[in-house]
Formats: sequence, C-alpha cells, structure tokens
Amino acid sequence: MKCMRCGRDAFKSTTTEAIEFGFGVLVIRNIPCYKCNECDEIFYTGDVVKKIEVITERARELMQEVTVIDYEKAAA
Ligand SMILES: [Zn+2]
Repeated sequence: MKCMRCGRDAFKSTTTEAIEFGFGVLVIRNIPCYKCNECDEIFYTGDVVKKIEVITERARELMQEVTVIDYEKAAA
C-alpha cells in the first residue's frame, strides 16, 4: 500500500477516530488503517470506510454526549 499523499510505503496500523456530530462525539477505537512512515498520513481501505459509515449510522441513533465504540467489536 502506498501513501496517498506522498507515494511512499505505508504500513498497517490501527487508529482512533473522533467524529463530531454537533450534539455529541463518537469515538471509534482500533480502526484498521494504513499509516505512512514518511508524512504520518493515515488512510483506510474502502471496506473500512464503509464499515465506519455503518457504525456511525448505527451509533447516531443511540448517541449520547460521548460514545466510544471499538471497531473490532462493532465490525464483527
Ligand atoms: Zn506519506
């Protein structure tokens, strides 16, 4: 996998994403991603992007002020 910003090699990693809803914040932990060693850019595969959208939609209905979801458990 190549970095989308600088084209160098990127490596598998995991990250935490915080999504602002206006009325609350959703935090998704342990998201599988690729991280560039050169510029620290983080990016996701298409599957992961879709899964994040599903998790986000589901969480929006149950939303509290702060919601923390573990990607690995939510994606299972
Ligand atoms: Zn890069």
